[in-house]
This record gives sequence, C-alpha cells and structure tokens, in this order.
Amino acid sequence: MQDSGDDTASRRSAGGHTPARTLPRALLLHVPGSISAARTRDHKCTGSNIAELPARRRARGARRRATHASIGSVRYHGAVIRPPSEADSLIVQVTYGCSNNTCDFCGTYLQKPFAVRPFDEVVEDVTGLPVTVRQRVRRVFLADGDAVALSTRKLDQILDLLHRALPNLERVSSYANARNLLGKTVEELAALRERGLQLLYLGLESGDDQTLADIHKGMTVAEQIEGCRRASDAGMQLSVTAILGLAGRERSLVHAAATGDALSAIDPEYIGLLTLMLTPGTRMERKVASGEVVLPDSMGMLRELREIVAHLDVSDCLFRCNHASNYLPIGGRLPGDKEAIIASLDKVLEAPAAVRLRPESWRLL
Ligand code: SF4
Repeated sequence: MQDSGDDTASRRSAGGHTPARTLPRALLLHVPGSISAARTRDHKCTGSNIAELPARRRARGARRRATHASIGSVRYHGAVIRPPSEADSLIVQVTYGCSNNTCDFCGTYLQKPFAVRPFDEVVEDVTGLPVTVRQRVRRVFLADGDAVALSTRKLDQILDLLHRALPNLERVSSYANARNLLGKTVEELAALRERGLQLLYLGLESGDDQTLADIHKGMTVAEQIEGCRRASDAGMQLSVTAILGLAGRERSLVHAAATGDALSAIDPEYIGLLTLMLTPGTRMERKVASGEVVLPDSMGMLRELREIVAHLDVSDCLFRCNHASNYLPIGGRLPGDKEAIIASLDKVLEAPAAVRLRPESWRLL
C-alpha cells in the first residue's frame, strides 16, 4: 500500500478545491458530490484514495459488469486509486493493476491483472483534453499500482508526452515498489527525476521480515530500504506507508519496532501510517475469520503506533497517522514533534476512557 505525500496523506483541505463548475472534468475525481468522490484505501495503496463513481452509477456499472469509465477524454479501466495528496492531479492510467499483486491484505487489483496500457491510448487521453484544460494541469499522477514497473524507455516516452501536451506541468508522481526501483540504476532514476518524475509513493507495510513473509509482500526489508535509497540518491522524494495491525497481536510490537527502524533507515520526506482494515475476498480476511491471525484491539493499535514513533529517527519528515482507517488522527513534523506525539499517545493509553476514538463504523479504507 502506498499513500500519503507531501500535502499530507489523508487530508483533504476543506477550502482548497477549485469550485467544481470551474474545474475541467478530467480533474474532478476528488470533488465531493460531483462526478466522483474519493475515499481512502488501506494500503500504500493503503494510504491511497479510490476514485470512484457515485453510488448510483457504481451500482448500475456493477449490474452491467462494466470495467471501463471515462471522465472527459480520459478513460479509466477498473477501480483507480491514488494517494489523497494527489486529489488535484490529473490521473493518467499508464499501467493496469499491480506487477506484484501478492499482498494478503490488498484487494485492490484482485480482478485486474497487471498489464501495460498501450501508449497510443495514453496519447489519445492526454492530447484529447481541451487546450484550456491542458494549460491548467500542474500535477500528474501515473496510475495504476506501480507505474514505475515500466521500463525507463517507456516512462521517458510518457514523460515526454506529458511535457509536450501540458505546458505548465510541474510534477509527476507514481506508486512504486522496491522491485521496480531495484530494476533501475540510480542514473536511470535520476534521468526520470530530471524529466519530472519527482515523487514516489511506496508501501513498506512493515519493517519486520517475518511479517512481510507472512503477508506475502514478496520483498524483504533490506530490498525495500535499498530500493528507496536508490530513489533518494536519484533526487526523488519518497512518501512511505506502513500498516498498524499487520502482524496480528502476537508480533505486534516486534512489527512496530522494526517498522520504526526501517522507516528511519529510509528517512523519507513523508511517512503515513494506516490501520489494517479487512477487505472482503482477501487472504487476510480469511486468516482473521479462521482465527489464524488475531488482530490487536484499538488500544493495541495505538501501542503499535507509539512504538513506531519511539523508534523513528528521521532527519526531516512530515508524519501523518490521520488516514480514515486510523482510530486516532495524529501527526507532526519529525523529529521536532516526536516527544509531543509520544506524550499525547501516552495520555490516551493511560486513560483510554477520556478520549473518543474513531468509532469502528466510521473507519474507512
Ligand atoms: S504492492 Fe501489494 S499492497 Fe501494493 S498494490 Fe500491489 S498487491 Fe496491493
């Protein structure tokens, strides 16, 4: 899972949106009550948002078993997720699904096998936007689950297209995983950075190898740290997420301490913590239903959160734990706010009754 980002993971500013009537249709994914509403998901993909059609259209679409949607000239295949901080970005789907697609907790792409979208279609989408819209696009998010899986040559071709078609483009971002990054040299990543790919969202999930193996992440902690270092050395910014509760009750604090250590080793610009929610149809849901995994309760999740923060040793990072899946929204700038965050969590842990946690029914992916 990935998510977060600069403007901060799961936060959508109340007054920050351009009024719907003035927004180009292609940028309306995030406007509440208009073409679509965004809701957060549980993975790096957890900290991400799912851009979805309104309920009535969703139901109608499901009845027809439709797998495509379009907004203006931009077409979308299946559910498209993006980080909350990309709410104002033009979402351009350049791949389908996730090249990894093995994580036990993730149901995002269960029905959408990984594929590279034909470049001609991407060209049609982007160049099909009215000129006035193209002039207003400043940020682009490349979907789906890990567009960085594309070859450097293909990504370069896409970045070229975006710069030609969008004269005021300032930033391109994408989800990524460690395998994508380790498949490229620092020089290749630096060249992509030069072409505008500035920010990557990566789901560490856990800094504990046993937990990563148990959830079938398919990557080790060392690989994830190395992949992230490669991106950082190339000058890219990183937004990294991890998931509370992922190791179950038994390894809860081991997962937490190791996650704090791994995040410190990565030292990203942004950290987002989410709390595990069970997605129907996933292996994790079945493991919990069968009793193979027992999840921590809300206080157990907060103890994990405290342990992660206590282990964080980062140079300058925007830390957020305010995703809709979390029981207690909290965040700050690290390292400066570390002790204050820990003190706040200690207060809650010492007197749980004094604080109103987010009710279970309000938690969302
Ligand atoms: S890497 Fe894992 S969590 Fe992220 S999209 Fe792929 S399957 Fe989902």
